Amino acid sequence: MPIQIIIEKCTGCMLCVKACPFDAIRMMDRLESRGLASDKPEGDGLASFGQSHSQSHKKVSIDLNICNLCGACVPSCKFKAILLEKTTEKAVAKVDLKNYKGVWVFCEQKKGTVQSVSYELLGKARDLAAKLNTQVGAVLLGYKMNEQANELIWHGADNVYLVDAAELVNYQDEPYTNVLVKLIQKYKPEIVLCGATSIGRSLISRVAVKINAGLTADCTGLDIDPKEKLLLQTRPAFGGNIMATIITPNHRPQMATVRHKVMLPAELNKQRKGKIIREEFGLADLTSRTKLIEIVDEIETLVNLAEADIIVSGGRGMSSPENFKLLEELAHVLGAAVGSSRAAVDAGWMSYSHQVGQTGRTVAPKIYIACGISGQIQHLVGMQSSKIIVAINKDPEAPIFKVATYCIVGDLFQIVPVLTKKFKEILKK
Ligand code: FAD
Repeated sequence: MPIQIIIEKCTGCMLCVKACPFDAIRMMDRLESRGLASDKPEGDGLASFGQSHSQSHKKVSIDLNICNLCGACVPSCKFKAILLEKTTEKAVAKVDLKNYKGVWVFCEQKKGTVQSVSYELLGKARDLAAKLNTQVGAVLLGYKMNEQANELIWHGADNVYLVDAAELVNYQDEPYTNVLVKLIQKYKPEIVLCGATSIGRSLISRVAVKINAGLTADCTGLDIDPKEKLLLQTRPAFGGNIMATIITPNHRPQMATVRHKVMLPAELNKQRKGKIIREEFGLADLTSRTKLIEIVDEIETLVNLAEADIIVSGGRGMSSPENFKLLEELAHVLGAAVGSSRAAVDAGWMSYSHQVGQTGRTVAPKIYIACGISGQIQHLVGMQSSKIIVAINKDPEAPIFKVATYCIVGDLFQIVPVLTKKFKEILKK
């Protein structure tokens, strides 16, 4: 049993009940001198306790079907009545962290085209590798991918680990997992980054389980702790109400996924030199039990926010759906797409496909114009990588101004029409 209650020590104070974030701890009546294990039916998923000789009192029980062994209850118990078996520490002892070197990016390709999220991750990997004084590795799996391997060097990779095989032409869970696991086991990178795409999410979680490594999904920030040299993996947590920075001190590699457009892409430099390391794998690793029948291209949504160079976005400050016409006019003149905050979507003023933010699209256009948007963290995580941010808000204290390049304090209903008129004149539209 990984978690146990020492029933003799439990006073029924309920501190652990309050400390459990998952509601997995309950109070139960216990009868005097009865074997507590017999207080519950066999195999009902409750933590078993041992004998109690205490008087009839309420005692805690942990529902193992809900408990995820996070350990939050352990320090909350002043009576040391909860025991959590630290299996992780045993496993850690075997991993020599010093053997792991280098920052790797799994470079996703579709139909032979390296996906742009890979270039964004290479840009970040260069940054991290510089702080660790180490090299950047790019992993590329596919078929006839020599040219693309060079592209990865030009975008910042020092070494490209290339596995070229007909079986890898398209993504398949099993062979891709087998190959990436073996490459990691052979070369031991200290960090592995992967796009939080449908392929990336499917692949990297499988890899993490196989190599007993941690994985932080959907990071919005990555950095290196200057003292401990650990990867600082920042992402929204608890429904986006806080930004949590997660570290992986005991396992290697440290693994994280990042969504498309969160990081800036690495600059192309055709003078860069690097090494292509070819690896071969046998049929045992390349065979898949699933068969790919057909790849159907994603149907483009009406608004291609992710690819737009300019986005004009509106929030609750627009006051009504009709007022979005003002933004459409400005967008038309600028050749921009129209985005919105979740507040505008929730109010039914805009459809979800326009939503920018944590639960909408992540965008990084050249210019993002935020009109009547306060700039809550859930909105910012979806647009703060934009090159230029123009914020129009009547509240000078609005948080959006903290990330804005140009801050316009005033009434958007006066400012937006003036902007549209001026741009029309300048752009002769
Ligand atoms: P408000 O916060 O109400 O701001 C309106 C702003 O308009 C104010 O700053 C006001 O000063 C200004 N204003 C009003 N009138 C005018 C005027 N005439 N001229 C100029 N300025 C004016 N939000 C997102 O946007 N995207 C997400 O993906 C997202 N995901 C979320 C996920 C979770 C789990 C949670 C809990 C929340 C999420 N939210 C998201 C919601 C987010 O927390 C905010 O509630 C939302 O972004 C607020 O939208 P807003 O800025 O339009 O509205």
